Amino acid sequence: MNKHNTEGPPCAHMEQLLQAAADNSITGIRRWYVLAHAARCFRCGNFLQRMRLTVKALREAEVPMDAERIARMKAAMHRDQD
Ligand SMILES: [Zn+2]
Repeated sequence: MNKHNTEGPPCAHMEQLLQAAADNSITGIRRWYVLAHAARCFRCGNFLQRMRLTVKALREAEVPMDAERIARMKAAMHRDQD
């Protein structure tokens, strides 16, 4: 059950950028940088994928993406991985 070498929270300095990439709020070179990092970094790649699914689910449910919701969601993700 111990998969800490592969599973875990994303790189701390990438978290905001990954979130922005998932909801398409960044473009151009910054977006490219985030996607390039996520492609090489297992944890960030996983996080980005989950963020995208979450953004998609929230949009389909027509729930606004507010900061409190994102914070709670991230807290839940971090708990899952401990
Ligand atoms: Zn990373």
